[in-house]
Amino acid sequence: MKLFDSLSKEKIELPKSNVKIYSCGPTVYDLIHIGNTRPIFIGDVIVRALTAAKTNINFLMNITDIDDKIINRAIEHKTSDIDLAKKYTKKFLSDLNDLQVVMPNKIIPISSRIDTIIDFIDDLVKNESAYFSEGSVYFEIEKFKDEYGKISHQKLDELIDGVRIENDQNKKSPLDFALWKATSVGRKFLTKWSSGRPGWHTECVALIDEYFGDTIDIHIGGTDLRFPHHENERIQFMARNQKKLSRIWFHVGHVLFDGQKMSKSVGNIITIDDFLAENNVNDLRYVMLVNKYSQQTNLTYDLIAQAKKWNERNESLFRKINWMLAIDELSMTNDNPIDDDFNIIDFRKEAMEALNDDLNTAKAISVVDAAIKYLNNKIKNGFVDESFNMLNEVLAILGFDYEIKNLAADEIHEIKKWQKLVQTKKFEEADALRKKLLKKKII
Ligand SMILES: [Zn+2]
Repeated sequence: MKLFDSLSKEKIELPKSNVKIYSCGPTVYDLIHIGNTRPIFIGDVIVRALTAAKTNINFLMNITDIDDKIINRAIEHKTSDIDLAKKYTKKFLSDLNDLQVVMPNKIIPISSRIDTIIDFIDDLVKNESAYFSEGSVYFEIEKFKDEYGKISHQKLDELIDGVRIENDQNKKSPLDFALWKATSVGRKFLTKWSSGRPGWHTECVALIDEYFGDTIDIHIGGTDLRFPHHENERIQFMARNQKKLSRIWFHVGHVLFDGQKMSKSVGNIITIDDFLAENNVNDLRYVMLVNKYSQQTNLTYDLIAQAKKWNERNESLFRKINWMLAIDELSMTNDNPIDDDFNIIDFRKEAMEALNDDLNTAKAISVVDAAIKYLNNKIKNGFVDESFNMLNEVLAILGFDYEIKNLAADEIHEIKKWQKLVQTKKFEEADALRKKLLKKKII
């Protein structure tokens, strides 16, 4: 598989045997919204496609459970920052379950790795990449000015313009960032520098360093994390280890809602629970995969309707094949699907080729459409061939699951009864039974 690396702006080939992946997890101060699920679903397809190609995955995700946002929200809600972080960590893990994604090999809350982070910062102070000032520790960008800014492809002066003007007199340059912040509010830990807490950018990189101990293959995150977060992660790893953090910096485009950024102030936030109350998780997955991951996706009611229609079409075909096989109306063959020129069509290969070329999920979805069209024609002739297995495999790699159940003897009996009623032209009774079967999701 080749993926586009934001730093080199090239597609980079992944190793065949083992792939190390890190994804910046959520800062647990609130519910995540559906826009946040795009990097999660995209990462999930990478994992599923590589696993299908027999590549071993080591996938780490962090949970940022120590952060200013958590502390500020806790003060606002008159609760403890520890309780608030615990509550939203638990909710995030149940969200991942609801999203039906393959769980990372490890999910580590940052609060469990404070000693690791302190040691990491200490090393940067010792090798003079960072400096101590008024209880806090800052990274000194000036020493790495030739390397800094390479992910976002900006020069130092452009980056300075992009940094919010902060009233932090302790920093040597506006681009310097805090590895350790002295503080008197919220969760804090006593170190030789001060009573304080780590900075977000150091939390991720110290975790990657401890867990993998080496350059990783894919660092996943939303495109908004390029600067400063990913630049800062990268430069710290380089300063401490004299090697690159990741071979591929993989960035997933924004999700807009009706052309606008989802935000509390606009009031257009849709949480996962809100979405799943009215739609299926397959619908959300379709919405997040139907466009190229690197482009932004505009979520509209039309797109959601399109997703529903797509999934309903797939599900009803699978159910139909399921009951027709059960009552021997269809037979299964091992024949390969062939096109009009008698060439074998390999839907699985076509989908994998699309995904292997910088994760073209849009193209893989169009392969599903072609396979469904092909199968619909086959069942008219009374049989299903190998295209059925291929389609199942492609849908599994994309993560769609229609939960088609094995039919019990009494259910098969009812289907046969319905078919008999149709044959004997007892349409009223047939229709009543059909409705009952539909309701039970048998047909
Ligand atoms: Zn991160």
